[in-house]
Amino acid sequence: MTTQKLSDSALLSQTKSLVREETRLTTEILYHLREIEARKLFCALGYSSLFEYAVKELGYSESAAQLRIDSMRLLRELPQVEAQVQSGELTLSVLVQAQKFFRQEAKLGRPVSVTQKQEVVQSLEGKSTREAERTLLAMSPEPEKHRPETVRPVSADFSEVRLNLSNETLENLEKLKGLLAHQFPEMTLSDLVTYLAKRALKELDPAQQEVRAKASVGTSEVKTIPAAVKREVWRRDGSRCTYVDPVTGRRCESRHRLQIDHRIPKGLGGGNDLANLRLLCSQHNAFEAARVYGRETIQTFWRL
Ligand SMILES: [Zn+2]
Repeated sequence: MTTQKLSDSALLSQTKSLVREETRLTTEILYHLREIEARKLFCALGYSSLFEYAVKELGYSESAAQLRIDSMRLLRELPQVEAQVQSGELTLSVLVQAQKFFRQEAKLGRPVSVTQKQEVVQSLEGKSTREAERTLLAMSPEPEKHRPETVRPVSADFSEVRLNLSNETLENLEKLKGLLAHQFPEMTLSDLVTYLAKRALKELDPAQQEVRAKASVGTSEVKTIPAAVKREVWRRDGSRCTYVDPVTGRRCESRHRLQIDHRIPKGLGGGNDLANLRLLCSQHNAFEAARVYGRETIQTFWRL
């Protein structure tokens, strides 16, 4: 039936029931996402995170994906609020605001306990996102530190970044500008960040490192791989994860927490030669470990 033919009262009541259905479906999707995350199914498809899977595979916008994943995580922590979400008394956007607030408070050294979280979330019942934001900010001794960082593209090659810096950091940046002034007299903040990023990468990106007599690295496993071989692995693999979904051929694009992995594990006789080494992100490293050592063993670890 087309909506034009509906009576006013039918139109209103059907809309209401559709919204109820929408809420029910959204909650259902959260549970599915939760299980996909627990089984790490996004890994098999070549994604390095549930977020990437939700955007690229499910077609959500970045903010819609983040909204669902954040809500799912908070619901996992506070299963008691599920009923309010299902009844529509708590909207997902309010839930997500609360989640972001708790995360930022923890980052600022004020972790919020589960009981407190429960109380806070309950106090947000029936509130609009703006009212919820006000309520939450009033609870923090440092509300100014809750402004989110944003990155907004302004052209094909440039983005506008909004972020909060402490006065101390600003002073440090000014000092750096002063020190570099003889080399770059008209340096803007943007030039300085570009300069610092390049310099830090030169130091931290293994693909860019010069040969060193003995690189000091964390694990004993990596220690035995010669520095030149390590550098070559990073260079060859383009400083990205090399996992490829055997079905779709999709390669993981992650640059996050890359580790050198032995294709044939050392325990099974694999060596430190270039052909046996590859870069994997931490998710795919764990995923491959599960494939080699058995899903059950590793899944116990994942669920912790
Ligand atoms: Zn990966």
